Amino acid sequence: MLRITELTLPLHHPDEALPAAICKRLRIGPRDLIRHVVARRGHDARDKANIQLVYSVDVNVKDETAVLARFRKDRNVQRTPDPRYHLVAKAPASGTSKRPVVIGAGPCGLFAGLILAQMGFRPIILDRGKVVRERTNDTWGLWRRGVLNPESNAQFGEGGAGTFSDGKLYSRIKDPCNRDRKVLTEFVKAGAPAEILTEAHPHIGTFRLVTMVESMRRTIEELGGEYRFSSRVDGIDIAIDSRGDRRVRGVHLSTGAYLEADHVVLAIGHSARDTFAMLHAAGVHVEAKPFSIGVRIEHPQSWIDRSRFGVDAGNPILGAAEYHISHHCSNNRTVYSFCMCPGGTVVAATSEEGRVATNGMSQYSRNERNANSGLVVAIDPARDFPGDPLAGIELQRHWESLAYVAGGSSYKAPAQRLEDFLAGRPSQTLGSVIPSYKPGVHMTDLAQCLPDYAVVAMREALPVFGRQIPGYDHPDVLMTGVETRTSSPIRFTRGDNFQSLNTLGLFPAGEGAGYAGGILSAAVDGIKIAEAVAMSLRDA
Ligand code: FAD
Repeated sequence: MLRITELTLPLHHPDEALPAAICKRLRIGPRDLIRHVVARRGHDARDKANIQLVYSVDVNVKDETAVLARFRKDRNVQRTPDPRYHLVAKAPASGTSKRPVVIGAGPCGLFAGLILAQMGFRPIILDRGKVVRERTNDTWGLWRRGVLNPESNAQFGEGGAGTFSDGKLYSRIKDPCNRDRKVLTEFVKAGAPAEILTEAHPHIGTFRLVTMVESMRRTIEELGGEYRFSSRVDGIDIAIDSRGDRRVRGVHLSTGAYLEADHVVLAIGHSARDTFAMLHAAGVHVEAKPFSIGVRIEHPQSWIDRSRFGVDAGNPILGAAEYHISHHCSNNRTVYSFCMCPGGTVVAATSEEGRVATNGMSQYSRNERNANSGLVVAIDPARDFPGDPLAGIELQRHWESLAYVAGGSSYKAPAQRLEDFLAGRPSQTLGSVIPSYKPGVHMTDLAQCLPDYAVVAMREALPVFGRQIPGYDHPDVLMTGVETRTSSPIRFTRGDNFQSLNTLGLFPAGEGAGYAGGILSAAVDGIKIAEAVAMSLRDA
């Protein structure tokens, strides 16, 4: 089978145009084309008056060798790559003495657990939160009634941080072992729409994620894995081994239980601040790392669609339009859009009492009134939170606490019209953009809960973005704060063996450890870690 990439056709092309374009591209007659399957479809809307669909297609042709020879110097006509993922090891039939322990049932922990289970290692997966259905009730408790459960919320519980999200699954990963493909394939088996295998910018939406996470749990359990919910890891047992190395012996749980384990995957996400502190106090190597801080910004989705797609706005093939923007400011700060959610809602994403943090989510249909996106400013340890490796966490807490107070100390979020933000005056009333944030917003001055350099940078960037996307800096556009959890403020650095630099048997993984940013990359990292654990168990 051959793969043709970068085959472009106009948005409004009839079905038969695709095989015709394939024949033209390969310089073959229609009878020589046996079969074609779309491997990927994206769009190029740089010229919105002439939007193109961009295909990768797998084709069977009559004389494949001759066609390949003709195109041997053409990187867009190649043999179709093998999409399969291969497990790297298999547990011995006799079993292993100690089962690997995975801390965290987010995308990273789920995939670490799934792959270990598929290899026969019967992992034990621990999560501080609850099963996803119960967790959904608790999360909605904050969104509907302003009641936070610090152990069961948008960050903590089965499925991890991305469960109530847009479920965007794209990343720049091109994994030579097809781990990214493996993630998408397992998601489809668990109930994701099959189109995620072919769309260039796939997304799942929040409701499906909930059922998928349940389905993956059943698969892991059928393979001998085991889950323990409401089991927060509160302590780690580290001893010095006969070679003088620090080595994990087990973990202490909030339930009072102790689990012996010499292979522990640390997939705790970016919000487990108490666990970060516990591990730091236990001497596990940790470093501060850059992250970003800012607000969520909301526009009517129709404005974004029109600016991106012109007269083709609303075309179901294109879906709700997305955007990615960035601007480097004169104060040497970069402002950029983060985790844009087309046709979605802004959500309360705090996990700590007395704090407010925003994020965004959407349903599969992406048909809510507003587009929302993080509008954030990159910050780094050397300049903004020097010294202690955990200083970034204190910085996040500081601004999240101020946001809580600015919002009226009730989990409402502080919000401001863009015109007022630029003018440096508090907003008194809403304009035409209706906020989607639950449990509600309090109109105020966002500058009181953001660092000055971020406010200055955003004030410079917004008019620039308005020239790129008409309406972006409309006076009524709504900004809601604060967006502080863009990525982990720390890294549990690991060595070539995927284990902590100074603690053998501890495998830091995913977003919280500083090795991923998003559902797909966290899941891929989980697979890599499962492979490393399996190799270490095999060699033990
Ligand atoms: P997490 O998903 O954070 O999972 C960590 C797990 O560890 C949690 O379940 C937690 O309960 C558990 N845990 C923490 N501490 C302990 C402990 N001490 N003991 C036991 N368990 C513990 N990314 C995208 O790619 N696309 C999106 O559309 C998207 N939207 C998002 C929307 C929202 C509202 C949020 C909050 C995030 C979104 N993200 C999105 C980011 C994405 O969710 C994360 O990048 C991803 O979930 C990270 O995966 P992870 O497994 O590393 O960590």
